[in-house]
Amino acid sequence: MTDMKENNYNYQYIFGPVPSRRLGFSLGIDVVPFKTCSYDCIYCQLGRTTNKTITRKEFVPVFKIINELKQKLEDDIKIDYITLSGSGEPTLCLELRELINQIKKMTNIPIAILTNGSLLWDSNVRKELKNADLVIPSLDAGKEDIFRYVNRPCKELSFEKVANGIIKFSNMYRGKIWLEVFLLNGVTSIQSEVLSINEIIKKINPAKIQLNTVKRPPAESFAFSVPGNQMVELSKYFDGNVEIISDFSRSTDENYMKITKEEIINLLKRRPCSLDDIAAGLNLHKNEIIKYIEELVKNEDIVYQEHNHTLYYSIK
Ligand code: SF4
Repeated sequence: MTDMKENNYNYQYIFGPVPSRRLGFSLGIDVVPFKTCSYDCIYCQLGRTTNKTITRKEFVPVFKIINELKQKLEDDIKIDYITLSGSGEPTLCLELRELINQIKKMTNIPIAILTNGSLLWDSNVRKELKNADLVIPSLDAGKEDIFRYVNRPCKELSFEKVANGIIKFSNMYRGKIWLEVFLLNGVTSIQSEVLSINEIIKKINPAKIQLNTVKRPPAESFAFSVPGNQMVELSKYFDGNVEIISDFSRSTDENYMKITKEEIINLLKRRPCSLDDIAAGLNLHKNEIIKYIEELVKNEDIVYQEHNHTLYYSIK
């Protein structure tokens, strides 16, 4: 495999491929600016939402993304999925249909969309996602009050509207749906909440239910991780093909990950840095940096502290 850092083209919208827990080697495309989202989830790994909106726009010219993608595909690198995700909610991008169609003309690599599912009540959004190979929407609550507490949505979004949108999408979509449920300790880590989420899931009937919990520094210090053994217990209340998302490990990528982690540590030896500082310092995308930060925090190589709503990382 070619060294992933060989091509020095300065990518603005494309990042990776990054080793993803679910998608193998995932080439990310950022279709909305940081951090544009219809939600402001208390567990968000990107920090608080700065542009909370349900207004769809052409945030990024499609031709620029396609030019970058052409360049990236010239590298001899392994890519399992081209993933539309990035720094917020990708379905806010008005040019999704055009983007997906153009990618399909260029490559056979499957396209995945990581979405919070909040705009699937809009028939245009449902149609635009039709040509994607895999859609991963989220459902973190089974009722309105928990939805408001966990996802902190735009005021125009009710739980019923969002849940019905995801159900409608599942009825018309022919690709694969994997549904992500993000569980929080003390909030949705109890049987009654899980059962109410499961009632909605039964109407969606996804190919997989993927259970997740806090593993990276969350937007709010009161968003707590559910311990592993409890995740296993809670998984038994879901109907269908349930999996708990585990850490990514592929020996082929270990060397690349090791080098990048060393670079982050070297940077932090000089001074504490925010995610933005590390991304700028190493010329890597924030979403890529997050993967390494997660490992380094877990192994207690680095620590973090909040200051003015920004997390700063430093050496222990
Ligand atoms: S939907 Fe995703 S990007 Fe938006 S706030 Fe929640 S976790 Fe963050």
